[in-house]
Order: sequence, then C-alpha cells, then structure tokens
Amino acid sequence: MQSFKLLKIMGIPIELHITFLLLLLAVYYFWGIGGFILYLFLFSSVVLHELGHSFVAKKYGVHIEKILLLPIGGMAIMDKIPEKGEFKIAIAGPIVSMILGVLFLTLSSFYDINLLKIDSMEYLLFSTVGILNIFLGLFNLLPAFPMDGGRILRALISGKIGYLKATKIASSIGQLFSMLMFGYGIISFNIILLLIAVFIYFGAHQEYATLLTYRIFDRIKIDEIMSDQIIAVPPETTTKELVDLMFKYKYMGYPVVDTNGELIGSVSFDDIVAVSDDILVSDIMKPPIVVSKYGDFNELLHKMNNSERIYVKDDTGKLVGIISKTDIIRILKIMGLKLNDID
Ligand SMILES: [Zn+2]
Repeated sequence: MQSFKLLKIMGIPIELHITFLLLLLAVYYFWGIGGFILYLFLFSSVVLHELGHSFVAKKYGVHIEKILLLPIGGMAIMDKIPEKGEFKIAIAGPIVSMILGVLFLTLSSFYDINLLKIDSMEYLLFSTVGILNIFLGLFNLLPAFPMDGGRILRALISGKIGYLKATKIASSIGQLFSMLMFGYGIISFNIILLLIAVFIYFGAHQEYATLLTYRIFDRIKIDEIMSDQIIAVPPETTTKELVDLMFKYKYMGYPVVDTNGELIGSVSFDDIVAVSDDILVSDIMKPPIVVSKYGDFNELLHKMNNSERIYVKDDTGKLVGIISKTDIIRILKIMGLKLNDID
C-alpha cells in the first residue's frame, strides 16, 4: 500500500493513499480549480471526523497508528478498541461531522462562494460542504458494520446478548445493506455506488471474522500446544557439536542455557550454515523470544512474526516449553476444521 505522509495532528500522522492523489488530479482535470477546492474542504472534513474518533480513543489509552485517506473515505488505524469505550469513540466521528455540517450551513446563510457549475447546477462552497458533512454524519450512523453506527449498535446491545452475537448482527445488517446498495447501483448505473457497496460488504464481513478468530485463539492455552521435550545446549557448545545434535534429535533450533539453568539465547540451523565448525554457540546465538505459560495465543502469534521459535517460561522464569512455527501451522490447520463448530 503506497501512501504519503502529509502532516501530524495530535501526534497522529495523516497519510494520503496514492489512489487519493490520483482522484485529486482527476477532480482537477474534470472540474477545475472549483472542484479542487471543494475536494480539499471535503477531505479536511473527513480528517476532522477521524480526529474526532481518535481524540476520544486516546482518552481510553488506545494507540493510534495513523489516519489514512482513501478516495472512498478516511480510516483511523488504531489498536483494538476497548469494549468499554466503544460507544463514545464511535459516536465522536458523526458528532464532529454533524457540527461541521451545521456550522457550514449557518455560514452559508450569511455568505457563500459560487464555486462550481456542472450541467447548469450551481455548487456553493459552504452549503455544499455543509450538506455533505451532514450526509457523512448520517451515513455513518447507519447501524451496520463497517460504519460507525455498527459499533454504536454493538455497544448498545452487547450488554444484553453478548459481544460476539452483537457483532454478528451489526455485520449481517452491513452485508444486507451493501447488497441493497449494490442492486440499486446496478439499476442506476452508478459505479461509485457499486464500489462503496463492495467496500461495505467486505468491511462488514471482516469485522466479524476478525473477532471470531480472536475469540477462538483466546481459547488456546499455550501450555497445551507447547512441546515440553526441551533439549538445551550450553553456550560453549561448538557448531560442529550442534550439527551432531541436529542429526540425533532432528530439531532445527535449540535453547542456550547457562550453568544456572537460565535461558540466555536461541540458536538454529540458519545461524550455523555460514560459519566454521569451531565457532561457539555463544558467539552466534540470538536473544530468545519468550512468552509466559499463562500468556495468550494472540500475543504468541504476534511474537511469532519475528521468530521461528518461541520459548515458554513459567512463573519462576524457568524454561518449560518450546513452540515452533510448524507447531503453530499445525494448530491453525486443526482449528480451521473446528471453525464451523463455533458460533
Ligand atoms: Zn467514523
């Protein structure tokens, strides 16, 4: 995904996706400077909408990576939203849009600029921006994922029926809505409507699917999937001795443990292929990546991105198990079969 950093507001980088810039050029080409200015106002409105979400999210301690602007709208990319703050975080965006809408419409009743004329239709700057902000606010209040209203709905009903079921409902409404929109887009030959419908359909689906996987992974206990057959090596092992161990045990990686039994490193086949026989393991070992025996599987998956092998420690800091990427792949395959059983 190609994007360009534009500026930072409240410590949050605002980035433009390359397709957004292309659209900007297209707008200028077709509608001239008037269209260009209108587009800039709209894009600023979208940024303010997203900043509204981000401002409240920050109060709940959510880390916001960036605000990304796509031709189809803006997206604040943030960590998982806590269930507790969801209602306020979700409603903040539409509130900002509605306020902007009212402000621009009020302004327009005193003064406005005749900006653009398309097919004898005149577009006044402030009134157009005002109306579009109201529309943006209302559209986002639709009680369906991936719109803000989907989150609002989930926050309102999850107390009664549970978070997962509430997500499923908001996500199904989103899909139903996108299909109606798609149908209407076909009848009216509106390509933009078709694109938005597809975007909503997949967004709605993804929201539920992500949560479902998250919930399933939550049930996996680390000590149930780890291997407790630990063959550790001391730091003064030579690479030649390590190769002999690999022949004997068929493991590709080994924990390095000092005389106190403390885990101090990790060494694998990849580390030794390019070095001579007499090099010591302590010179080539890497820092071990460690999880707690009681940690959660989602954290483990995250750490697995940077390592082939994860070491498991118990409360006392003792090494009690090893999990390799192959173990994870095996587990995910088995979980894939079980996916259908969970609702
Ligand atoms: Zn929003």
